[in-house]
Amino acid sequence: RKGSVVITGASSGLGLATAKALAETGKWHVIMACRDYLKAARAAKSAGIAKENYTIMHLDLASLDSVRQFVDNFRRSGMPLDVLVCNAAVYLPTAKEATFTAEGFELSVGTNHLGHFLLSRLLLEDLSNSDYPSKRLIIVGSITGNTNTLAGNVPPKANLGDLRGLAGGLNGLNSSSMIDGGEFDGAKAYKDSKVCNMLTMQEFHRRFHEETGITFASLYPGCIATTGLFREHIPLFRALFPPFQKYITKGFVSEDEAGKRLAQVVSDPSLTKSGVYWSWNKASASFENQLSQEASDAEKARKVWDISEKLVGLA
Ligand code: NDP
Repeated sequence: RKGSVVITGASSGLGLATAKALAETGKWHVIMACRDYLKAARAAKSAGIAKENYTIMHLDLASLDSVRQFVDNFRRSGMPLDVLVCNAAVYLPTAKEATFTAEGFELSVGTNHLGHFLLSRLLLEDLSNSDYPSKRLIIVGSITGNTNTLAGNVPPKANLGDLRGLAGGLNGLNSSSMIDGGEFDGAKAYKDSKVCNMLTMQEFHRRFHEETGITFASLYPGCIATTGLFREHIPLFRALFPPFQKYITKGFVSEDEAGKRLAQVVSDPSLTKSGVYWSWNKASASFENQLSQEASDAEKARKVWDISEKLVGLA
């Protein structure tokens, strides 16, 4: 049978390119888990994805009720779950003040980390029940959360501190809206959320890989400077960022190429190792990359996991 893969945020950018790359092989049915049904339908159509190769299902990661509803709907569809790709994200670099999810968590960490945390915790059961030969849970990471890289050292740097803001609920009322308890900074909140994504992947690996055989992986697909992720940025930045990445840092990668990379992590028989953070070299070959000290801190991963369980109502 075909593999069945759920991709969050498949209505644009990397998620859409990955959906297209997988659907084109004829070996995958893609469940596009998106917050805007019509946008996803238009995107799938204009990308030329054949109708029989995808299903769109509503998911708003900025609402935990919506996450639970999605899981119910997915189960009711009767489709198996062989691979889950947590790809959606918001990036709010120019926001002056914090905005919040339905439950009152700062929007970047609430969407990118907490929404995906609940989703993947609930769907772990469905993945475990799949009879597919290679089951995978993939969380898209980023170089920007990795302070052991050049890009990760552009201020404001990711830093989860002692997690006091997260423990307080990130609501900007009786706690800070930032994980480390500091002043709101949209660019930092995004980077912090990506560190949480990478920590979560490793904690999944430690807790569940042996028992379930599921491959847990993260990746940095390269800088896809053309996606909607930068839609909130100032116009000058949006104009200069793609050529800067192309000619100066040479980290630029097209949406198509990045989609092929993520599709490899979904389906390539040679990428089954669990607990790995994948990157690609200049010749576009995959390799196991090193995470920064904070993004590979096992003690911090356990703490983020425990606090996140409480925030999403699992503990
Ligand atoms: P895009 O903005 O193009 O895609 C993000 C997707 O997330 C969109 O489909 C968006 O939906 C969706 N999304 C946002 N909020 C929600 C929500 N509340 N519920 C459901 N879906 C939501 O950006 P990219 O393709 O660049 O980003 C994809 C991933 O790649 C992210 O995890 C990002 O961190 C990562 N990444 C990107 C890099 C880059 O250079 N662009 C580099 C490294 C990592 P909608 O279409 O409705 O807006």
